[in-house]
Amino acid sequence: MAEAMSPRDAAAAIAARLEAAGHTAYFAGGCVRDELLGLHPADHDVATQATPDQIREIFPKARGVGEHFGVMLVRHGGRTVEVATFRGEGSYQDGRRPTQVTFADEVTDALRRDFTINGLFMHPASGRVIDHVGGRADLEARLLRAIGDPDARLEEDRLRLLRAVRFAARFDLSIDPATLAAVRRHAPELRGVSRERVGHEIRRMLAHAGRSAAVSLIEAQGLAPATLLEPEAAFEPRRIASLPGSASIACSLASWMLDRALPQSWAQRLERWTEALVLSNQERDGVAAALTALDALRHDWPGMGVAQRKRLAASGGFADALAILQAEAPGAAGEIRGDLVPLEASGLAPPPLLDGHELQRLGLQPGPAFRRILDAVYDAQLEGRVRTLDEARGWALRVHADPR
Ligand code: ATP
Ligand code: MG
Repeated sequence: MAEAMSPRDAAAAIAARLEAAGHTAYFAGGCVRDELLGLHPADHDVATQATPDQIREIFPKARGVGEHFGVMLVRHGGRTVEVATFRGEGSYQDGRRPTQVTFADEVTDALRRDFTINGLFMHPASGRVIDHVGGRADLEARLLRAIGDPDARLEEDRLRLLRAVRFAARFDLSIDPATLAAVRRHAPELRGVSRERVGHEIRRMLAHAGRSAAVSLIEAQGLAPATLLEPEAAFEPRRIASLPGSASIACSLASWMLDRALPQSWAQRLERWTEALVLSNQERDGVAAALTALDALRHDWPGMGVAQRKRLAASGGFADALAILQAEAPGAAGEIRGDLVPLEASGLAPPPLLDGHELQRLGLQPGPAFRRILDAVYDAQLEGRVRTLDEARGWALRVHADPR
């Protein structure tokens, strides 16, 4: 099979077919913004004046997704492209999805979008930018600005409070004063947004190297209580600002939690955050593992033996914990990194020499003691006191004879 077209070429070819049939068709929204910023958009969306029925005349296999919103999925060149009919948006229900849409002209479609930088169109074949909202000048001035009246736009869909933060942080934009003032005014209303949508926005912010800017904006603009379901707190982006760009979501969440000082234990707070952001089990466990390992690194590492250190260094939360400690106490983290070199050289988590079958072959009766014996033998293996299967067997028999 021929290689798939690039998403851009596929979207451009679809737009060209629509245009050949007499319909205006543009790249729209995020992909235009990204191209103008010199970035590579993940996907190219097409906006057109053709109605869903007209789109289907040209692309009989087009599938409607929320067809009453006027969005069709068109396959071309091995890609699936979103093709949306120009629309205005009807009245909103509780700051969420519009209850109805009406098909409209391109100006109306640009004006219904959230921020000027997201309201641009581009003619795919010529690269001409169609700007009904002043988005181009704002992009050049690196300014995030609501389209139209900021209060009205934020009230229509309160998730835009977080979208404003995400785009400002991701593209390093300042927020236009009127838009920023409206964000502050409406911040408490974020509580009306579904926790899933809030969690999704937060994940997208934390997955990006701009996470520290995003979190700092959330804290500074009074959005944190409604985001995290916690009180206002003293916040200083100490840890989150020094994470590597590639830090995991769990590591970012753990850092944020420590950077906003509250008296409760992290375990209690993690329950709240799990609810507030609808964290998956994996995310929640990842935060808990990082914070558990961090406690051990801060307090116990100097007194740990080789086996204990190796077990900790091989545990799930260790890398995240060390990244956080690096931000907190670079000296201590540096020493631990030094301690790790010989531990890694001799293997942090080698396959165990002995297992339960082997103990049975030695004539031992299976039971609760097995776990203790195997742990003791594995500790000896990690410490280099036991190197061969024979030595491991001998060690097991000695532990068995002298349990302590
Ligand atoms: P990303 O690169 O993060 O996907 P994006 O701008 O493409 O950013 P999407 O959520 O994919 O964001 O939405 C595509 C376009 O649809 C946006 O650029 C914007 O024009 C419009 N849009 C999306 N969500 C909203 C919203 N909540 N309110 C108004 N317009 C929106
Ligand atoms: Mg997008």
